[in-house]
Amino acid sequence: MKKQTLAIHTTFQSPDAYSALSMPVYHTAAYEFDDAAVMADAFCGRIDAPDYSRVMNPTVTYFENKVRSLTGAHDVIAFTSGMAAISNTLLAVAAAGKNIVTSRHMFGNTYLLINNTLARFGVEARLCDLTDIAAVEKLVDDDTCCIYLETITNPQMEVADLGALSAICRRHGIPLIADTTMIPFTHVDSRALGIDIEVVSSTKYISGGATSLGGLIIDYGTCQGFSEQIRKEMLLNLGAYMTPHVAYMQTIGLETLDARYRIQSSNALDLARRLRSLPAISKVTYLGLEDNPYHDLARRQFGPTAGAMLTIDLADKDACYSFINNLKLIRRATNLFDNKSLAIHPASTIFGPLTQQERDSMDILDTTIRLSIGLEDVDDLFKDIAQALGSEK
Ligand SMILES: *Cc1c(COP(=O)(O)O)cnc(C)c1O
Repeated sequence: MKKQTLAIHTTFQSPDAYSALSMPVYHTAAYEFDDAAVMADAFCGRIDAPDYSRVMNPTVTYFENKVRSLTGAHDVIAFTSGMAAISNTLLAVAAAGKNIVTSRHMFGNTYLLINNTLARFGVEARLCDLTDIAAVEKLVDDDTCCIYLETITNPQMEVADLGALSAICRRHGIPLIADTTMIPFTHVDSRALGIDIEVVSSTKYISGGATSLGGLIIDYGTCQGFSEQIRKEMLLNLGAYMTPHVAYMQTIGLETLDARYRIQSSNALDLARRLRSLPAISKVTYLGLEDNPYHDLARRQFGPTAGAMLTIDLADKDACYSFINNLKLIRRATNLFDNKSLAIHPASTIFGPLTQQERDSMDILDTTIRLSIGLEDVDDLFKDIAQALGSEK
């Protein structure tokens, strides 16, 4: 069977007492045992039975197994948010005296995690242009614990050559860790691209219409003992495992992910093309447009679809604020890949707490609006954008 079919029909770990067709939500903190020896076996990992929901829960395991069917991964671990998946991953591979080679182009909180939080514990952030392979090569040394990147950076939409970065990682025996939130794993084969550990904000495409926060670590088994360390050390000591109700909602989201993604990415491409006809927009950035500088590389790595995020540039910050204020259909909200289309001014919101100098170095411009394209009819979206631009004059 194909992956999508397997994902839909993933069976429960244990038969349900009532033959429920959907995975029941096991809202329990703890689990009872028949005797002391079985209890000891469960706690020491000699048998695969849940003992406490900080570490394992059948509803969450079911969600993880569905993602495993779709990715063919060695193991999948679900967290309370994308940031929890990212922070757990980096805390597992890093240590005082180690360094992380990464880029200035990334999600604001990941940037702050690496540059502020981890820096306090003696982990060095080595920032470079990951599209310049020679520059990356120079920065990696014996103390580098990983190369970390976003496959499509949010919101700059930069794409690096994953094969070339993976080759550097192989030579140094370190993992290539990638945040793949921008294009879901139903459409990209991360393992074939050389990614060792994939992290995802499942809040976005997977949750199924912005129902809940969640994050995933997807371990392709190429980095010895990684997921075992996450389960045996990080989940126990840090405690950010996904909750059963969220796993239930995201399981339902996962079942329609492929269908939603196809419509949203095709809407985004259609809209990106049409937005170029509006004179108030100085630039439309979308990887699906043939003249985007990363178009060919993105196509080679991620296939024909380019996701549902695009950015437009207007004259200045005032024009951006007025555009956002004039929107009637598209919602003024953060988040990505909701069923509804969303608009935000990243410089003053997600990147607002950063200094102007930091924003400049990250190429976060005052002129940029980020749009997440939903499931609406493209005609209506185009009309809303056109009217919101028109009334600003
Ligand atoms: C939203 C996002 C995150 C953080 O995920 P949360 O679920 O909000 O914690 C991380 N990386 C990228 C690329 C994102 O878009």
